[in-house]
Amino acid sequence: MINLILFGPPGSGKGTQAKRLAERFNLLHISTGDLFRYELGNNTPLGQEARKYMERGELVPDEITIGMLRNKLEEHPEVAGYIFDGFPRTIPQAEALDKLLASKGQEITALIALDVPDEEIIRRILLRGKESGRADDQSEEIVRNRISNYREQTVPVYEYYAASGKSRTINGMGEIEEIAERLAGEIEALA
Ligand code: ADP
Repeated sequence: MINLILFGPPGSGKGTQAKRLAERFNLLHISTGDLFRYELGNNTPLGQEARKYMERGELVPDEITIGMLRNKLEEHPEVAGYIFDGFPRTIPQAEALDKLLASKGQEITALIALDVPDEEIIRRILLRGKESGRADDQSEEIVRNRISNYREQTVPVYEYYAASGKSRTINGMGEIEEIAERLAGEIEALA
């Protein structure tokens, strides 16, 4: 079992890379951002609640996010491992994830962070906003708010897993293919 956290600021390429890695290493890709967007798209009560936060570039409250994640894990008990993308984003989420995995006799194998400078992130997200119409990718102000929330609430998750020697960082700049190879190299080194 390999359970990975793909870590990094918004727009660092986690989603793109997680999809590839999931296929290559036969892992289940779990993106909380995608799960929330699915709920929003279907206008479910959970989606209506999440929308209020997402539109402003704020994090959705932990209890909502953790509950959704727990349901998702229970839907797929028989996988070879997980790749978490956009989760955990706070220390309480990391603690809840560790507990959930421990209850199944599992643990996080490694957290891999993609290192990308702020100016590049803003450029990529505003471009993605033009192409996809994603509401939270439209204004520089919302994007800057997401980056500042990342620094305050999410970066501590890197330190949390670093305490047990599980965190590492790779260069997230370059061609998609090139970054995919860097990531695969890290994962192969874990096995
Ligand atoms: P990005 O990484 O580009 O910011 P995501 O698709 O991962 O985008 O997430 C979009 C939005 O969904 C976040 O800004 C936040 O509002 C919400 N969200 C996603 N994952 C979480 C999480 N683990 N905890 C709280 N909110 C989340």
